Amino acid sequence: MLPRLHSFIDGRFVPPSGGRYSDKYDPRTATKMQEVARSAPEDLDLAVSAASNALPAWRNLRPSERGRILVDVARAVRANGGALGEIESLETGKPGQEMPVLIDLLAQFFEYYGGIASIDEGEIVNVGPGYHAYTRRDPFGVIGVILPWNAPLHQAARAIAPALAAGNTLVAKPSEHTSGSLVELARLAVEAGLPQGVFNVIVGQGSVIGPAMVKNPAVMKISFTGSLRAGREIGQIAAERVLPLTLELGGKSANIVFADADLDAAAPGSVRAFTWNSGQWCCAGTRCLVQRSVHDAFVEKLVASVKALKIGPEHDAVAGPITTKAQYEKIQTYFDIARQSGLTPAIGGHLPTDPRLQKGWFIEPTVYAGVTNDTLIAQEEIFGPVLCVIPFDDEAEAIRIANDSEYGLGAGIWSRDIGRVHRVAAQLDAGRIVVNEYNGGFVQTPCGGFKNSGYGREQGRDALAHYSQTKSVIVKL
Ligand code: NAD
Repeated sequence: MLPRLHSFIDGRFVPPSGGRYSDKYDPRTATKMQEVARSAPEDLDLAVSAASNALPAWRNLRPSERGRILVDVARAVRANGGALGEIESLETGKPGQEMPVLIDLLAQFFEYYGGIASIDEGEIVNVGPGYHAYTRRDPFGVIGVILPWNAPLHQAARAIAPALAAGNTLVAKPSEHTSGSLVELARLAVEAGLPQGVFNVIVGQGSVIGPAMVKNPAVMKISFTGSLRAGREIGQIAAERVLPLTLELGGKSANIVFADADLDAAAPGSVRAFTWNSGQWCCAGTRCLVQRSVHDAFVEKLVASVKALKIGPEHDAVAGPITTKAQYEKIQTYFDIARQSGLTPAIGGHLPTDPRLQKGWFIEPTVYAGVTNDTLIAQEEIFGPVLCVIPFDDEAEAIRIANDSEYGLGAGIWSRDIGRVHRVAAQLDAGRIVVNEYNGGFVQTPCGGFKNSGYGREQGRDALAHYSQTKSVIVKL
């Protein structure tokens, strides 16, 4: 029998009350690897009750004490990083060599928010004589955290660590395709000293557990990371309850290469921007805007960089398979769409021919050059390793094209002109801009969307503010 994955509620494993499971497949080989609980709404109620019961004690701990426990969780993550990374690599198909960096980042989230848990101070507000007025920040209560499958531990930590630091308890719902690593993280956290019931994981289908979580009256805020489609559905339910949301949605990020950039650094950087995690990355730089005078030469460099990538199931590959079959099939439809738009790939545009890559859900990294921004493949989020190279003439046109998207998540600028870098950064509709690199980003720097990429911010001190609410206290003297 295949191993079974269960929810982790109130410090123990809980099988689904209806006894139902779904099959989880290994993306490297397309074979069944696990049975994953299909929890029922009653199981969610159990998890929300556990989080509600744990709330008074957790929110009333001294912030420094909550912080110390989070740092203990970070220590447990570092001590067990090998096993944790192996689960995530197996579930997602991510190359093993990527995992130490991701585990380090995971630990950093708990270290950072553990460290700043106690700096969340209110302020004295001078309203004149006769009064003493001040603000304090209170937690919301029970937070529902709904997560995608592309970077399960990373996405989870950037919501969970600040939510806990701010004094909330939570129920997290990982994607049904990649639930194991989060269940293990919750188990480790309790083992490291996090009180039972503070961090619960409910394993189940998005269409069942997601809406039930948003409707649950004891859930006081939702942090959602995922597609625009599901974000909109959640928003509609949340509006009925006036429930606060953090929405981290999709992207179609522009990576702008000016002719004055170091093109030898920009080419591999731009390839990494759309092939990291096989393009399954919300901030992926999938629209590469290149100044027309260097467009053709730059495309040649991009193609050479793509050719140098190692794709495969191996530990040392730089790109693995697509995590879900549905996503693997969706990406392929864009090859047809591009063909119908009259585009010929400069490289890729088909499934791999290498027999090593034919068992699993591998996609050949693909570059379309000379694309116009109104083409469907330049407008829709593909969420796979597919790049549109779009030429532009000058700074103003680059900004116009970059902002001509329903999304506004990430952006990149490659230029040696420091004035231009800041001018362009100020004009771009994007929540995260990286200059002369693309994949950078830190636990300390806020991340989130403009426009349809969502609202609210994860990471940095901003996130701590998003998981707490300001209260004014006005005392008549
Ligand atoms: P998805 O929206 O299908 O699923 C995300 C989560 O929502 C899963 O846990 C799923 O079970 C649940 N869900 C599905 N339908 C739901 C519903 N109706 N109500 C409530 N919950 C529901 O997204 P996905 O395919 O798992 O992830 C890919 C998407 O996530 C892409 O669009 C990507 O850009 C986005 N993403 C965004 C960020 C960011 O920070 N902005 C980060 C990672 C991924």
